[in-house]
Amino acid sequence: MRILVVGGGGREHALCWALRRENPDGEIHCAPGNPGTGAVAHNLPIAADDIDRLADAADMLGIDLTVVGPEVPLAMGLADRLRAEGRAVLGPGATAASIEASKAFAKDVMAAAGVPTAASRTFTDAVEALAWVDRQPEPLVVKASGLAAGKGAVVCATRAEAREVVAAMLRDGKFGEAGRTVVVEAFLEGEELSLMALTNGTDLEFLPSAQDHKRLLEGDQGPNTGGMGAYSPVAVATPALLERARREVYLPVLQELRRRGAAFSGVLYAGLMVDHVGTPWVVEFNCRLGDPEAQAVLPLVTGGLTDAFRQVARGERPTAIRVRSGAAVTTVLAAQGYPDRPQRGAAITIPGDLPPGVTVFHAGTTLDDAGMLRVAGGRVLNVTAVAPTFAEAQRMSREAAERITFAGKTFRGDIGWREAARLTPV
Ligand code: AMP
Repeated sequence: MRILVVGGGGREHALCWALRRENPDGEIHCAPGNPGTGAVAHNLPIAADDIDRLADAADMLGIDLTVVGPEVPLAMGLADRLRAEGRAVLGPGATAASIEASKAFAKDVMAAAGVPTAASRTFTDAVEALAWVDRQPEPLVVKASGLAAGKGAVVCATRAEAREVVAAMLRDGKFGEAGRTVVVEAFLEGEELSLMALTNGTDLEFLPSAQDHKRLLEGDQGPNTGGMGAYSPVAVATPALLERARREVYLPVLQELRRRGAAFSGVLYAGLMVDHVGTPWVVEFNCRLGDPEAQAVLPLVTGGLTDAFRQVARGERPTAIRVRSGAAVTTVLAAQGYPDRPQRGAAITIPGDLPPGVTVFHAGTTLDDAGMLRVAGGRVLNVTAVAPTFAEAQRMSREAAERITFAGKTFRGDIGWREAARLTPV
């Protein structure tokens, strides 16, 4: 079995780690990878968006299965290219990846499929958009339609604020190409939930549910980030909720994509807002595993991941993934200045005696010439703890996060606070 994992962040380290666990003797490559993936796989010095060189490498190495981590190469057509060359690949083609790469497309698909989602309008003209905003109730959410690394959605308390954001995107070119088309939608109330399913375009298998923490500071304060931590599973994701998500969200959307000739195969991620009666409203779709959700979800898998990946990559129905009981919590250690101006270069020390059940996934790290691990990106490490109970996993993740050191280390000690509040009797 020769596997290629595309990407170089914490999600890809978790992927390589999980695949290595199931394939102790397999050949696993990661492009470009990071010092963490280098310990469980063979790193290839090829950027995740260098489609030509990735295709060449898959050919030269005789890769049996390519797993694409990030959205950008999928939107650029990496999966189409590999499939055209007869290779099995986990990830959708460019057209189906538009479910993430174009919020306007996603909204259109959802409307056609009758999926619960916030009422919205799509605009390319600022005058029209502003006139419409003036007639809407507050609050509003303004979104750049294109890929904006998770930072293209702005929740606006007032119409005045929404007008400013619309003007910044459509008139001033903030967010560049991604903001040339703007989706304005109603604000949804409820609890957010990340659901991820492996699908061949028709059949699906859910991965354990997760919840992300987008804001930089404890108590969900401060600026939006790519994600400061996650936990899995989430009590909100009851069997009844999963069944509703399957029937009311996944099956109709997959069918609508097939109808459009854009069948989706890979990991379909639905960012849901679950309201007080348990309706799963779709906030967004992603065309790949979440980061940092994957770093919490994958360590709970005890078997069947490689099989399900391979089945989906070949268009077959995925078989069930085995998952342990208990919980996982992952805490992101970010660099000083993240998210605006992360400072690189600080030396990192990871204690050698972290307890069993704790795994440190690398994201923005690099090894210098002397072999010293250093900060090389905004999100530096993901500290995942797996334990029989949520409370234990939360404590272990936090304690390990405290013990890892680098200058300027920033992290949230409250990852999973909603779950903790649910589990603490009042
Ligand atoms: P998105 O880029 O669409 O995932 O949005 C980023 C974040 O903005 C989401 O994770 C939500 O926290 C928030 N958000 C987006 N759309 C809405 C909405 N319609 N109602 C409430 N919150 C939203």
